Amino acid sequence: MSIIVTGGAGYIGSHAVLALKRQNKDVIIIDSLQTGHQQAVDDDTTFYQGDLRDSAFLDTVFSSHDVEAVIHFAADSLVGESVKDPLKYYDNNVGGAISLLQAMNRHEVKKIVFSSTAAIYGEPQSQYIDENDQAVPTNPYGETKLAIEKILKWAENAYGIRWIALRYFNVAGADIEGKKGEDHRPETHLIPIVLQVALNQRDEITVFGSDYKTPDGTCIRDYIHVTDLVDAHLLSLEKLSDEAKSDVYNLGNGKGFSVMEVIETARKVTGQKIPARMAPRREGDPAYLVASSAKATRQLKWSPNYTSLETIIESAWNWYVNHPNGYTTHK
Ligand code: UDP
Repeated sequence: MSIIVTGGAGYIGSHAVLALKRQNKDVIIIDSLQTGHQQAVDDDTTFYQGDLRDSAFLDTVFSSHDVEAVIHFAADSLVGESVKDPLKYYDNNVGGAISLLQAMNRHEVKKIVFSSTAAIYGEPQSQYIDENDQAVPTNPYGETKLAIEKILKWAENAYGIRWIALRYFNVAGADIEGKKGEDHRPETHLIPIVLQVALNQRDEITVFGSDYKTPDGTCIRDYIHVTDLVDAHLLSLEKLSDEAKSDVYNLGNGKGFSVMEVIETARKVTGQKIPARMAPRREGDPAYLVASSAKATRQLKWSPNYTSLETIIESAWNWYVNHPNGYTTHK
């Protein structure tokens, strides 16, 4: 039996493929390579390049394999872009998910783990956000992910497709053995940008806001190591195999780190100066976003291994040092 990983050539998807292969699972990647990288796909992995909205393409993939379950990562994920071009996000994210679920239904595949996001919560209502907090997204990206969670509920009701949606906080770091890493173009996330400054690829890091009501005035986020995040997907698959009920889980570290703490830790890890410049707040950034992952810990029996900010940044740094131009460095 095989597991389909959509978006398996992307940052989180490629780490999931690695983890599944380490468990000797048979993996099939579907990726359009719109944002994923061919070089992130190992030669020995079955790979189909195509768009999820193409149902004939999906029929080819699903009918060529005995598919047990799907892990669905493939999506557009830039908050700012989603505000500028919401229809692109609804079309690709929601349209892609609908087409994928239709293919699953046609081919009688009944299990899916879905990559959701903390962006569905919008402005936080509590210090540690839990799954019962209100879902009020403040951007189209979050709306599309929430829409898909709702579609999953109705798809289960109608077609018996069981699902687990995992709401990610700030995913960071790279495979501890250095086999995969993070390569977004454009890069918008804090840790990769800080490390690009350390590599002299940028002059400085711009700190978006230093007047927040936090101890050092900069925003606090919950950075979770990509391998820990991916582990929760494997546990979710196991849980779905045990006929557990469909559900949503937050995935975070449970600890918050400020922008300045990230920069200081990166200075320590890299030994580089990393000049920082204070700048006005970025629109739509809440001061404090930290998860309660108690439900995942309890019900998925999930326990993150790489919770220290230093380990997270160190793993990312190791990959960047070996791949200064991302996936285009080698192969
Ligand atoms: N940030 C920053 N400078 C940058 C990129 C990000 O100060 O060049 C801040 C951003 O305002 C937020 C935190 O770093 O408070 C994490 O941002 P990121 O874009 O990595 O993730 P987000 O929390 O927006 O999903």
